[in-house]
Amino acid sequence: MYISGTEEVQQMGGGYWVTARTSPPPSPSAMHKGITGFFVPIKAPGVEVTKRFDDVGRMGISTGGFSMKNVRIPDSYRLGNEGDGFYSTMEGFDGARILIAATCLGASRRCLEIGMDYIKQRKAFGQPIGKFEGIQFELADDWTELEAARSLVYRTAWMDDERYKHNKFSPLEVAKYISACKLKVPPMAMHIAEHVMIWMGAYGYSQECPIDMAWRGIMSYCVGAEGALNIQRIVIGRELLGKDFIPYK
Ligand SMILES: Cc1cc2nc3c(=O)[nH]c(=O)nc-3n(C[C@H](O)[C@H](O)[C@H](O)COP(=O)(O)OP(=O)(O)OC[C@H]3O[C@@H](n4cnc5c(N)ncnc54)[C@H](O)[C@@H]3O)c2cc1C
Repeated sequence: MYISGTEEVQQMGGGYWVTARTSPPPSPSAMHKGITGFFVPIKAPGVEVTKRFDDVGRMGISTGGFSMKNVRIPDSYRLGNEGDGFYSTMEGFDGARILIAATCLGASRRCLEIGMDYIKQRKAFGQPIGKFEGIQFELADDWTELEAARSLVYRTAWMDDERYKHNKFSPLEVAKYISACKLKVPPMAMHIAEHVMIWMGAYGYSQECPIDMAWRGIMSYCVGAEGALNIQRIVIGRELLGKDFIPYK
């Protein structure tokens, strides 16, 4: 993960959240232990940016790769306690997955608003196309999906709050709901953007229309940003059936 937050970090040109093994795992089934998190400045000697991809969406940020060779950083760049790196990474994923779901709710709502304005004014066969059931019923279904997803996301955000403030839910119980948000909301948002694009016909497919931007951005969350969809299924399955049912063990 790229970090660019504070002024001090920006003066260093930003940097990466990196985890590294700092002690051997206590057993083969506890590979997640003995990992520590670090902030590695992009300008630290030995760090080299090796790749930069032009992604199809999310133009405000880029993705890519970097290599590290004999990089030495002070202990003050350690993030959290030694050995806690896996847990803090997972905490980061949890927060980010809720935010992704919330982002997708907003994107879907805006797509529907744009779509509704359009289908009320665009006429075909002498009628606004919003009068045709083929479009109106899809709108009703999409709005219903969106509101159901909103309830799931709000409930999950509340659970996450309660977990930190009142220790009310276990981290794994919350993680199950967080994975449900990450699994459900980005594909739903993608479908809504696709429907609206199709309602808007050739104009919808043009870059004059803002829907393509939403569609390309949302796809990043379906593809993998903050975890692939099948990984969310594994998390949910594990919490429903127990650790003995983890498919890769
Ligand atoms: C826009 C964007 C930003 C990103 N930012 C960061 C970042 O800041 N830091 C970072 O470290 N990474 C980042 N990533 C990488 C992201 O975490 C990975 O893309 C994601 O974890 C998927 O890994 P992968 O791309 O290697 O795909 P793979 O792991 O190769 O997965 C490919 C396909 O196989 C499926 N699959 C994999 N394993 C299983 C399994 N066990 N069972 C069933 N299906 C499976 C997946 O669901 C997926 O459909 C980013 C990705 C994107 C798209």
